[in-house]
Amino acid sequence: MKAIYLDSIQKLSERDIPTPVPKAHQVLVQIKSVGICGSDVHYWHNGRIGSFVVKEPMVLGHECSGVVVESGGEVKGLKRGDRVVIEPGEPCRKCEYCMSGRYNLCRDIAFFATPPYDGCLLEYVVFDSNFVYKIPDEIEDFGLATLAEPMAVGVFSTSRLKPRLGDRAIVFGAGIIGIACMMAARAVGCKEISVADIRDERLAKALKMGADRVINLKSERLPENHYDVGYDATGADQCYALAVQAVKPGGRMSLVGMGPDMQSAPLVEYVCREINIVTSFRYANSFPQAISLVKENKGRLEEFITHRLPFDLKNVERALHTAFSDQSAGKVVLDFA
Ligand SMILES: [Zn+2]
Ligand SMILES: [Zn+2]
Repeated sequence: MKAIYLDSIQKLSERDIPTPVPKAHQVLVQIKSVGICGSDVHYWHNGRIGSFVVKEPMVLGHECSGVVVESGGEVKGLKRGDRVVIEPGEPCRKCEYCMSGRYNLCRDIAFFATPPYDGCLLEYVVFDSNFVYKIPDEIEDFGLATLAEPMAVGVFSTSRLKPRLGDRAIVFGAGIIGIACMMAARAVGCKEISVADIRDERLAKALKMGADRVINLKSERLPENHYDVGYDATGADQCYALAVQAVKPGGRMSLVGMGPDMQSAPLVEYVCREINIVTSFRYANSFPQAISLVKENKGRLEEFITHRLPFDLKNVERALHTAFSDQSAGKVVLDFA
């Protein structure tokens, strides 16, 4: 089968590797679509994210959908022909985090396209069936189904933030993660959801995705002491400073975005205003809700996918370039034959 490897910074190659055989608890999935994520672009462009460094050639991609072609003897509830999405991390199932349900914190999780683990920009992959979910019939498009992965980030950050019914929310960052936070906040009953960013095209998209209000941080002032909860999906220092004023004293702020290793934030303001900072990393126990969010927001999310390319070496390169440099790009998706 065909697989696309990141050999070194901005160098990709196509290889022919053996098709894997599922173990008893695994399914073999034929990949149908893969969404390009910011982390794929980072690894391709910089060869690293924080302490994760690409030292050996690695297959990129962690947002995928496909069809089950074979299942191991112990697999229940999945059969040949099922359309599925994969939650792309296999935790150890033994450590204190796994045992308490916080498996996203497992130190031994094998996560797609995080060194040293390969991702899903290849034709077939085997995966633990417990992390493989059926796609509902309403989501006909495999490309749309890949959005369950970024949606899961929004679902999980929301389950950590715990907004109450009727809370006013602000989301910093109008990329797919910001949109996911907005849609999850809406689903749990937040009202008057604002999305803030510095680019008008992105804000226009956020409005179409269902934001009640959009704010361009370059030209508009944020209301002060207005929101009950906030999300940062940018990882930018300036947003931490703006957020602490926009959120009401006693409110909560969710940090989802990842910025540079060392950042500054006016923590004394957070202390004096008792604004709790709630962090979240990837997701745990969030895929079923994320798939529902994709289903409920199907029409809108279809519009978020701006580029679709057939899977081959040249197009993977093109997709990464587009995601990196095209300001108007939403989600870039590779489709398999
Ligand atoms: Zn992703
Ligand atoms: Zn574990």
